[in-house]
Amino acid sequence: MSVAHRFEDEVPPLVERLLRELGEDPAREGLVDTPDRVSRSLRHLTEGYGMDAADAIGDALFEQDYDEIVVVKDIPFYSLCEHHILPFFGVAHVAYAPQGRVVGLSKIPRLVDVYAHRLQLQERMTRQVAEGLETVTRPAGVAVVVEARHLCMEMRGVEKQGQTVTSCMLGCFRDDARSRAEFLQLIRRT
Ligand SMILES: [Zn+2]
Repeated sequence: MSVAHRFEDEVPPLVERLLRELGEDPAREGLVDTPDRVSRSLRHLTEGYGMDAADAIGDALFEQDYDEIVVVKDIPFYSLCEHHILPFFGVAHVAYAPQGRVVGLSKIPRLVDVYAHRLQLQERMTRQVAEGLETVTRPAGVAVVVEARHLCMEMRGVEKQGQTVTSCMLGCFRDDARSRAEFLQLIRRT
């Protein structure tokens, strides 16, 4: 790769400056590689920018006459809150009621990651996962419940612990109490 085309990463010098502002010595042994590491890790944790549900699901979409609820539960995710750039993390439960098209099950966690890997609000992430799945699969309905801990609340002492639960119900899960009840029953802890 020629020098002219090499990607110039502007994050490491910013991190180095941040370390200095915080009272650190970026030259000390333990911190020498930190700016590069922080840059790589932040790039990874925000790689969802520029991707959408169609990218996550790819060609893993199959014509199939199956109209029972499909649930993938306890999908672990890690995201960053947009207010503090601190982690919030937990599990997502995703369900949909197919209407002629089913999606490869391994793509659902990938879908969650696309929306988790950016600066987020839990409420918005929940809705984006639901709407993304709806857009790509055109199902009878989509239901998403997200349970998360927010380190910006716990570490700063705003709230010691506890889960924040958000949900988004679309189509039959919003309109039909029985579909919604079936979904909530399926994700209930035993
Ligand atoms: Zn926050």
